[in-house]
Amino acid sequence: MFCFQCEQTAKGTGCEVSGICGKKPDTAYEQDVLTCEMIGLAQAMRKNESASAELVDMIVDGLFTTITNVCFDTLKVAALSEQVKEARMKLGCGEVMMPGELFSGDTDIVSLRSTLLFGLRGMAAYAHHARVLGKRDPDVDEWLIKGMAALADGNTVEEWLGLLMQLGGANLKCMALLEEANTGAYGDPVPAQVPLLIEKGPFIVVTGHDLRDLKMLLEQTDGKGVNIYTNGEMLPAHGYPELKKHSQLKGNFGTAWQNQQKEFANINAPVLFTTNCLMPPKADYEDRVFTTSVVGFPGVKHIEADDNGYKDFSELIDSALELGGNSEDRQLTGINGGTTVTTGFGKQTLLDNAPAIIDAVKSGGIRHFFLVGGCDGAKPGRNYYSEFVKQAPKDTVILTLACGKYRFNDFDAGAIGPFPRILDMGQCNDAYGAVRVAVALADAFQCGVNDLPLTLELSWYEQKAVCILLTLLSLGIKNIYIGPSLPAFFSETVLSVLVEKFDLHPITTPEQDLKAILGS
Ligand code: SF4
Repeated sequence: MFCFQCEQTAKGTGCEVSGICGKKPDTAYEQDVLTCEMIGLAQAMRKNESASAELVDMIVDGLFTTITNVCFDTLKVAALSEQVKEARMKLGCGEVMMPGELFSGDTDIVSLRSTLLFGLRGMAAYAHHARVLGKRDPDVDEWLIKGMAALADGNTVEEWLGLLMQLGGANLKCMALLEEANTGAYGDPVPAQVPLLIEKGPFIVVTGHDLRDLKMLLEQTDGKGVNIYTNGEMLPAHGYPELKKHSQLKGNFGTAWQNQQKEFANINAPVLFTTNCLMPPKADYEDRVFTTSVVGFPGVKHIEADDNGYKDFSELIDSALELGGNSEDRQLTGINGGTTVTTGFGKQTLLDNAPAIIDAVKSGGIRHFFLVGGCDGAKPGRNYYSEFVKQAPKDTVILTLACGKYRFNDFDAGAIGPFPRILDMGQCNDAYGAVRVAVALADAFQCGVNDLPLTLELSWYEQKAVCILLTLLSLGIKNIYIGPSLPAFFSETVLSVLVEKFDLHPITTPEQDLKAILGS
C-alpha cells in the first residue's frame, strides 16, 4: 500500500505497511481501485456529455468514502467500486488507470495530482452534506467530474496549478451551498453556552458533521427520556435554532477525535458516527458504536437510509435505554478544566455586530484578529495552537472553527466588549462564513483582505483542510500559517511555488510567529 493523504502519515512520507489511522493494506488497495474507477467514470461522463445526478452522487459518495477515518470496511469499498465500474462500462469507457499509477511518476506531477485528488475528496464531503438537505449546484457537480477526469490527463505543472485554483473556487461555491443548506434547514446559528455536564439517565453521543442525521435522531428521541450529547465536529449544532429547540440536546461530550478511544471506553451509552473521524473501535466499546452513511467498520452496526433518506434510529435509541447512562450527573471538563464551551458565532452573528466590531478596531480596542482553525490530531506539535491562543495579547480576537479548537475552547480568555475573545464560528466548512466576514471587514475598511489586521493559523489533518486551503489561495489570501507539519504530498517545488506566490508559512513557535505577525 501507499497512502500519504493525511497529516499523521508514517514517518512524514507515507504509510506503506499499514495505516497509522488503522487502515489495512487491503482497504487501501480497494480505495485506490475505487478512485481509478471513479476517474474512468468521470472521463466517460465527459466524453458522453452525460452528468446524471445519480452518477455524480456515486462519485461524491465514493470520494467521501476514501477520506481519512471514514471507511475501514474493505467489502463496502469493493462493492462501491463494482457499482462505479458497471456505470462506467455502460457509458462505454473500457480503459482505467491502474491503482499503482495513482501515486507514481515525476515527483512534482505526483504532488500536484495528489493535491487535486485530496482536495476533491474534501469537497465531495461538503457536496454530500448539502445534497442530503436537497441542495446541489450544477457548477459544483460539473467541477467534480472535470477534476476527477483531469486526474488521468498529462498536464503541465502550470496546468495542474491552474486546476488547483479552479478547485479552490469550486469549493467556495460548495461551502456556500452547504451553508445555505444548513441555515435554510436549521436557521442561522446564534451564540450558545454549551454545558459539559452529562446528566443522569440514558444518553447518546453523536459525532461527525452531518446535521441532518442529528436532526432525525432528535425528532426520534423527542419525549423518549434519552438525552443527546454532541462530540467533536457536532458541537456547533448547539447554535442552530431548529436543533437546539429539542430540549434533550443537552451538551457536549468529550474533546476532539483522537481522544475517542479513551473517552468512549467508559460510558454507558452508544455513539453514532455520522462522518469522520472514526478510529478503529476498541473491544470495550465496539458493540456500542453505530455508523451511518459512508462511514463503515467491519462488524460495527450500520444504519442505512431508506429510499427517501429517512433513517430509523430505533436500534440506537433502544441501546441507549438498555445501557441506562449514568446513575448520577457527571461533570466533565475540557482540556483546560473549563466546564462549559461556547459556539454559535457564525457569519450572521458577526455580520450583525459588524458596526461594533469595526468601531472596536478603529478605537484600538481590537488590535488584530486570528483565525485559529482546522483539525486536531494525535501527533505532537499541536500544542502550538493552544499556546498560540494563550499567548495572543488581550487586545486580539481569536476566531476559530473545526475540531482543533478543543485544545483551547474551554479556556477563559476574557472578553472584548460584549464578546468573548474566543469566537467559535462552527465546523470546518464554516470557513466559508469566515471568508464572508473577512470580505465584509475589508469592504468596511476599504482595503483588501490581505491588508486587514487578520492572520490565518491553520491546523490540518485530513483532506477537507486541503480543499479549504486551496479555496483560500484561490481567493488570493496570503500569509497563511500552516501546521503542525507540512503535507507529505507537497513536493519541494510545489511548496516553493506556494511560499513564493502566497507567502505560505510553516508554523514555528507561538512566540516567534506572534512576534512576526504583530511586530512586538
Ligand atoms: Fe496513513 Fe493517513 Fe493514509 Fe491512514 S489516511 S493510511 S494514516 S496517510
